[in-house]
Amino acid sequence: THFGFRDVPVGEKQKLVGEVFSSVAGKYDLMNDLMSFGIHRVWKRYFVATAQVRRGDRVLDLAGGTGDIALLLRDRVGETGGIVLGDINGEMLRVGRDRMTDLGRVAGFEYVQLNAEKLPFPDASFDLVTIAFGLRNVTDKDAALREMHRVLKVGGQARVLEFSEVKTDWFKPLYDFHSFKVMPTLGRLFANDRDSYQYLAESIRKHPPQEELKAMMEAAGFARCGYRNLSAGICAIHTGYRV
Ligand code: SAM
Repeated sequence: THFGFRDVPVGEKQKLVGEVFSSVAGKYDLMNDLMSFGIHRVWKRYFVATAQVRRGDRVLDLAGGTGDIALLLRDRVGETGGIVLGDINGEMLRVGRDRMTDLGRVAGFEYVQLNAEKLPFPDASFDLVTIAFGLRNVTDKDAALREMHRVLKVGGQARVLEFSEVKTDWFKPLYDFHSFKVMPTLGRLFANDRDSYQYLAESIRKHPPQEELKAMMEAAGFARCGYRNLSAGICAIHTGYRV
């Protein structure tokens, strides 16, 4: 079903995360550009450009939100491939689906409202599973990683793009100032919502740093786990394989 959302019950806790994203959904794309000076577009392009994927593949993009990653992946899988865009928040999915429709990109996308902790797909369903700026928001990250592993085919790759730990000393104070002063202020000015952006800055700092996330992926069953820092470690791309 290209236009229907499959109905999957989501828990109370998830609803809270859901609400944060409902309140930011409409402004989400603008805010990303403002807060990252547009650099998130480059991170996302790099994330997809270096993915292990080919024509005809079936890909799951978790926490897909407004569809940036799905849109980039679409060109990699071609006419014969397909992208499942999964997100817990119906409002984000709706913004994403409207945006795809406006761009004339309809075929080959499926939208599924789901919780990454408990995926409504059989084992070995996908050639590639991605999650960009989403794992941070998932309550039980270990469960989500195990589920990503479960739904991958043998030989398939999991890719996680997420904020990580800045590794360059001189940059740290600037980064702190940006996170805790600039971001909430931009949130107040442009989205009339200081709290959601305060939450965002805090969730970035709480997320497990490079080595810790790598160990979590190994514990979830992934083989050949590794990562690559982007922009001094503001973000990192973690990869793992099902073997
Ligand atoms: N991937 C998109 C991007 O890079 O622009 C969206 C990222 S957005 C910061 C995070 C998304 O994660 C939101 O759309 C939110 O609804 C979703 N999310 C949060 N918890 C989730 C969960 N447990 N399962 C699935 N999606 C979740």
